[in-house]
Amino acid sequence: MPDASSPVLRFAPSPTGLLHVGNARTALLNALLARRSGGTFILRLDDTDTARSRPEFAAAIAADLDWLGIPPDLSVRQSDRLALYGEAAERLKAAGRLYPCFETEEELDLKRKLQRARGLPPVYDRAALRLDPAARARFAAEGRAPHWRFLLAHLEVAWDDGVRGPQRVDTASLSDPVLVRADGSFLYTLPSVVDDVALGVTQVVRGEDHVTNTAVQIEIIEALGARPPRFAHHNLLTLPSGEGLSKRLGHLSLKALREDGLESLAVAAAAVLVGTSRPLQPVASLDELAALVDLSEISRAPARFDPQELTALSARTLHVMSYAAARPRLLALGIAGGADFWLAVRGNLARFEEAAFWWRVCRGPLAGVRAAEDGAFLAAAAAALPPEPWDGETYGAWIAGLKAVSGRGGKALFLPLRRALTGEDKGPELAALLPLMGRARVAARLRASDGDLQAADGAAIPRP
Ligand code: GLU
Repeated sequence: MPDASSPVLRFAPSPTGLLHVGNARTALLNALLARRSGGTFILRLDDTDTARSRPEFAAAIAADLDWLGIPPDLSVRQSDRLALYGEAAERLKAAGRLYPCFETEEELDLKRKLQRARGLPPVYDRAALRLDPAARARFAAEGRAPHWRFLLAHLEVAWDDGVRGPQRVDTASLSDPVLVRADGSFLYTLPSVVDDVALGVTQVVRGEDHVTNTAVQIEIIEALGARPPRFAHHNLLTLPSGEGLSKRLGHLSLKALREDGLESLAVAAAAVLVGTSRPLQPVASLDELAALVDLSEISRAPARFDPQELTALSARTLHVMSYAAARPRLLALGIAGGADFWLAVRGNLARFEEAAFWWRVCRGPLAGVRAAEDGAFLAAAAAALPPEPWDGETYGAWIAGLKAVSGRGGKALFLPLRRALTGEDKGPELAALLPLMGRARVAARLRASDGDLQAADGAAIPRP
C-alpha cells in the first residue's frame, strides 16, 4: 500500500463502450498526476449498470491503458463491491439522510411538467417525506417497492476546483438524488463516493459533465463522516464539427487510432495538451508529458480534437524518437539496422511500420526506377563509387567526383541516383543510406542488376 501522504487518483469508466480520446484525456491526467508524485493510479470499473456493462469492454479498457503506457497500480470493479454500498446506504438511512420514495416514473414526469408550466424549476418536492406511516403501509401492501433519495442539506457547497477555481453550488437548487433504485440496484453516485472514500482517493480529475454531481457528492461524503477529495473538472473534447464524443457511437476510439498505426505517445500528448494553453508538441516519454500537465492551464471551453493534427503529431513523434525507444520495436519487425538506420529513416516516417519499407530499401531486393537516358550516367556513377569502408562522408566524396565527370548538377544529378538506389523520388538522405546499403548493392542497383544480386528472394518491395 502507498504511504498515507502520497496521492491516490482514479479513472472510473463504465465498461459500456470503447474508450475515446476524451476518455484518454481523463485517464492520462489522473495517471500522470499520480506518476509525477509517486502516487497510486487506480482503474475503477463502474459496472453497476449490468444491462449495459460488458466484459469485452472491460478487457478493451485494460488493453487501451496498457497501450497508452498507463497500466493501473490497482484495478477494482464495482460489481465486486456491492456489499460496501449496501452498508453505506444503511448508515445513511440510520442517519435520516436516505428516505424512501414511492412515486412512479409517470408520476414524477407529471410533477415536473406541472412545475415547468408554473415557471418553477423541476426540483423534486420531497412529497415522500410527508407520507404518514399509513400511506407507506398502503404502498407496501400494493407491492410498491421504494426507491431511495438522499436528503440534501440545502447548503452552499464550495470547493476549489483544480481547473475551474472556486466553485459554489446551493444544493437547495437540486433535487434530492436517487441513490438506490426500487430493485435495490445502485445508481452511479453512491458507489462512486463510497469507493473514493474506501480507496483513499485524494484527488478526482474528471470531465466537466460531473460538476453539478460534485456538490451532491461532497454532501454525501460528509454525511458518511469522511473528508472529500480535491476535485478538478476538465473541459470535454469534441469532434472537429463540435459534436461531443460518444463512447456508444465509437467516436475516435483508442482502438481505432491504434489500428491506424498512430503512436500511443502522440495520442497521449494530443489528448492531454489539446484545449490547454500549450501547443501540441511531440514528447519523448510519458514522464516528459507528465511534467507538462498543469490543470490550471486547461481551458474552460470545450476543445475540438482534430484527427489530422493527431496524424501530424504522430509523425513528429517518430521524427524525434530516440533509437533506445525505437530499438525493441525495430527488432520486433525483424530490423537489425541499429542506430544508424533509425536515425537515417525516422524523419521520413509517418507510421512506425514504414521503417520496414526503408529497411528493405537498404537490404532487400529492389526494383529501381530509371529513365532510359540515365543508363550511361548511372554506369558512370557505379564506376565512380569509392572503395569501402564507407561512412557518412562517402556520399559527398562520390558526388563531387561524379559532378566533375558527368557535368550534371541539381536534380539531373540527384534524382536518377535516388530513383535507382531507392525506387523512390523522396526519402532519407542518401548519404546516410549508402553505408547501410553497402558498395555491392549500390553498384548493382546503379547497373540495374540488383535483381541478380538478390535473386534468392526477388519479391518487389511492398509500398508503405
Ligand atoms: N463512471 C463515471 C463516468 O464515466 C465516473 C465519473 C467519475 O469520475 O466520478 O463518467
